[in-house]
Amino acid sequence: MFKHIFNTVIRGGGRDPEPPSLDKILEHSDKHLNNFSTLVQPLPESKPRTSFNADTPKEEQSMLNLSVSQRLKVMSKALPLFTNMQIGARMYDGKSEPPSAEATPEFIAELEALARKAGAVDVGYVKVPRNAIFQGKGLPCEYAVVFSVEMDKEPIDTSPSFESQLEVMDGYKRMATISMKMARFMRKHGFAAYPGTALGGITDYPHLAELAGMGAIGYHGLLISPGEGARLRINTIYTNISNLPTLEAQGKENEHLWIRDFCAMCKKCIRKCPVEAIYEEPRPRGDGGMQTIDHATCRDYFAANYGCAVCLAICPFSQVGYEKVQARFKGNPEAPQFRIPVEMIQVATD
Ligand code: SF4
Ligand code: SF4
Repeated sequence: MFKHIFNTVIRGGGRDPEPPSLDKILEHSDKHLNNFSTLVQPLPESKPRTSFNADTPKEEQSMLNLSVSQRLKVMSKALPLFTNMQIGARMYDGKSEPPSAEATPEFIAELEALARKAGAVDVGYVKVPRNAIFQGKGLPCEYAVVFSVEMDKEPIDTSPSFESQLEVMDGYKRMATISMKMARFMRKHGFAAYPGTALGGITDYPHLAELAGMGAIGYHGLLISPGEGARLRINTIYTNISNLPTLEAQGKENEHLWIRDFCAMCKKCIRKCPVEAIYEEPRPRGDGGMQTIDHATCRDYFAANYGCAVCLAICPFSQVGYEKVQARFKGNPEAPQFRIPVEMIQVATD
């Protein structure tokens, strides 16, 4: 793993006969899933994990053509990020045999307090639906604690830029640290806990966060939350705790789904995307979710322009905030009505 990071960041991939690849790093982590004899399986129609590999020539990829000082700044984020990702991957050793599957409200409160103290801005809970597990992957546990971190507005507003990309990497770095802290705390108290990879992963994090009631997925395909708009990153810890305070367990519904009614009227991200990668309207996918962007088109611009992030920066929820948008929005009866169908939210372990 570190060979790939070193070649990508310090040497710009220049002397490596194989092109540097984040996909390869993630596949390396995924191999730890082979330690389990049984895993919660994806549905046959589940989507594959989106590839990070772009067709953009190496000399045009912004992260492979950094100055020395930029490379050092990237390494200050990348080294702790990938170190924690590697330590987290080793927690998938298959040896954890937790005695407990039910947590007290006090434990949940302590876990949330720990997450927030470590830098998480929100925590939610979900029973993972099989259509959120990427094709060819699997989960050691069927429940997940989901958390988010905020990215600062100032650097994100400069997107696409090196400063913005660095802030995104800082978000990943912080998530990797927080997920390790949470997973260790959960294991110490007798529960199974497997930190999800901060970057990439084996499930669709925005989908899980929406099901956990932390916000709603906008037309740009990113989660929009009350606190941070789209300026956030999401991560998970998979666990055996079966009595998590999920929305379903609390008899509640996601109160943020009006966001997509607003999106149907706004469409600013569609207009501002430099390569028209965002669809005019989300398209139903076979797995019960909605496809909002053309990943191949986005990925090439993304690779050549510091991870782009224009759509998340210009979103009104990132700019003026959730409450102001909600206060001004009078509803949109013309909005196409779609939700992530609840009938897909059942979990089988065959
Ligand atoms: S820019 Fe507008 S349409 Fe796009 S996600 Fe944000 S609110 Fe929705
Ligand atoms: S990241 Fe950039 S290229 Fe990709 S969808 Fe958003 S605005 Fe378009």
